[in-house]
Amino acid sequence: MRKVALVTGSSRGIGAAIASQLSRAGWAVCINYLERRDKAEALAETLRSEGGDVMIRQADVADRKAVEAMVADIERELGPVTLLVNNAGIARQQQFQDISEDFWHRLFAVNVDGCFHCTQAVLGPMLHAHAGCIVNISSIWGSHGASCEAAYSATKHAIIGLTRSLAAELAPTGIRVNCVAPGVIDTDMVQVLGRETLEMLAGEIPLGRLGKPEEIAKTVLHLATAEYITGQVITVDGGFVG
Ligand code: NAP
Repeated sequence: MRKVALVTGSSRGIGAAIASQLSRAGWAVCINYLERRDKAEALAETLRSEGGDVMIRQADVADRKAVEAMVADIERELGPVTLLVNNAGIARQQQFQDISEDFWHRLFAVNVDGCFHCTQAVLGPMLHAHAGCIVNISSIWGSHGASCEAAYSATKHAIIGLTRSLAAELAPTGIRVNCVAPGVIDTDMVQVLGRETLEMLAGEIPLGRLGKPEEIAKTVLHLATAEYITGQVITVDGGFVG
């Protein structure tokens, strides 16, 4: 069966590194983005110049209809999705009493509903084929708590619960579901913390530095091909939470 991957939120950061490594390893890849078409197009151009079979598609993962339309386009252009990487996510550090109701719901809509929509959208052909792989991107805050991370942490805990339960439910069908929990990775998402805080964080990480998007991608690639691994949460954090 043709290897076809959908990597949500892959115009930048961790998702872009995952899409790149998958393309270089022979997957046909759909790069999904929300707003940064320029970034998605530039990445697609690079990967195509290396011989990759790549399409780009705008879709807000929080919007079920948009996700269904994207998956229908992928099936037409590349074939059924055999690997889904639920990577799209948003974050904001905030004291709990300052979280607005709108932002709370948006966070869950993107980080949690997004996984629900994308997974349901690709599952039919996977069930039919008795094969498929889903990798969810959680966070170290998906198993640990942190100050000013309550809402984000709640969404990332949800992703781990979803991963473990879905892995158990789908194992008899041959579909594997795993999770990667990154630590502090050097992407746009963490730049809001400011250089000083990032340097302080790096000092607290046993390996002495922030992680690179490529290091998360390497783990996703491993899970994509590790045929006897399901229901696992792999932490990639330089030893930060131990
Ligand atoms: P990032 O640099 O902010 O990039 C986010 C990506 O997600 C972009 O491609 C963005 O598209 C896309 N996106 C955002 N909202 C979307 C939506 N509603 N629908 C579709 N795409 C959407 O983030 P990152 O650091 O690479 O993080 C990727 C994942 O890793 C997230 O789930 C995040 O929670 C998780 N994570 C990150 C870290 C870290 O330290 N960086 C740590 C732990 C976990 P546009 O370019 O179009 O805006």
